[in-house]
Amino acid sequence: MNKIGTKPQVAGDETLLRPAFGWAFLPIALLFFTFFALAVSSPVFGAGKPDPKVIGARVAGDETRTRFVLDMNTQVTPAISGLAKPYRLIIDLPEVEFSLPEDAGSSGRGMVTNWRFGLFAKGKSRIVLDLSGPVRVDKTFFLPAVDDQPARLVLDLVRSAPEEFASFVEESRGIAKREAQKTKTKTDKLPPSGSGDKPLIVLDPGHGGIDNGATGVGGTLEKAIVLDFANLLREKLEEAGHYDVRLTREDDTFVSLSRRVEIGHELEADLFISIHADSVRRGRKLARGATVYTLSDKASDQLSEELAEVENMSDVIAGVELDEEPTEVTDILLDLAKRETRSFSSYFAKTLVTELKSAVRLIKNPHRSAGFRVLKAHDVPSVLVELGYLSNEHDEKLLITEEWRERMASAMSEAIHGFFRPRLARQQTTPSQ
Ligand SMILES: [Zn+2]
Repeated sequence: MNKIGTKPQVAGDETLLRPAFGWAFLPIALLFFTFFALAVSSPVFGAGKPDPKVIGARVAGDETRTRFVLDMNTQVTPAISGLAKPYRLIIDLPEVEFSLPEDAGSSGRGMVTNWRFGLFAKGKSRIVLDLSGPVRVDKTFFLPAVDDQPARLVLDLVRSAPEEFASFVEESRGIAKREAQKTKTKTDKLPPSGSGDKPLIVLDPGHGGIDNGATGVGGTLEKAIVLDFANLLREKLEEAGHYDVRLTREDDTFVSLSRRVEIGHELEADLFISIHADSVRRGRKLARGATVYTLSDKASDQLSEELAEVENMSDVIAGVELDEEPTEVTDILLDLAKRETRSFSSYFAKTLVTELKSAVRLIKNPHRSAGFRVLKAHDVPSVLVELGYLSNEHDEKLLITEEWRERMASAMSEAIHGFFRPRLARQQTTPSQ
């Protein structure tokens, strides 16, 4: 129950405004009204509804019945949906603050193998439970706060059959999709595209929100350092004054891979640079140094193949339904466009490697390729840069130093100047109309 439910009625009590008091009394009445309204909404009075916060979470139970509990400071309404391949349960909440220990979710219990949480989009937070198999949500309920017990959101899961889970997925995703459609126009507005004459560069800091990306040995989060780096690179490029620069995300929000590609395409970007600092499982000691990746159907080597696989999992981690890969249309014009884009991407990758060589440590064979979904725009030259690998402790230490970041960003902006130099030179010699 909301304890403040009665207070606004006191403030708005008709008796205060009854004409019998005379019009002269009105300003005082309004003053009172304002005071009460402020009092009710002010946290100082402890009466306003606080910003929702998750203050604890736990999983209990076994392989037949598992309970997931969130301790909260206030009541929120969850929307629950499912996804298969792999089995996941998605709990969508209005934007909440997660005040949880760093390792929360890293291990589960019963049918929940592990879980993660974070900002999914503006105004929307998400929790994804990874499941050991198909489940049915037996009960969902909210327990209000009592005495020293916080409010609790409780989900009871029981084992179910794959077919039952499949129909739950279909039903729940249908609702989720309609909701997403409703909000799409509100949240997916693009920043205005550039002035037209300047080359437009889209920087794409990887991961974000619920998708942390890699975590370094020393605890560095990939999603945080790549965003910082993208901001630094944007600053450098904007200083030069020759480019319009856009980021696919400006904060710690999740952006799906297809949305990232769409942003580059819709803005008609001249260059798309995805920025990462991933972890590799195989050869983690050897894999270190900056690497530039371009798109290819067949990976150039095993490490690149593994990396693209991990990268392409981003949407799965965030509980986003994978878009159907568009069926290849045999269109000779599209084919030509693709081929041209790929050769521009390759040319930029080479320019970038040359520039990076003299500035930072590179991996052996620094221009590699694999099937990264984020590089699939057919009309935007795209590369993915691994600043280094967070699975390597030396790389992790480097990546967080100011000096290294400066050198890396300067070298990258030099390469970008090199790539656009012919176009900029042409613009300078052509008198403007
Ligand atoms: Zn990454």
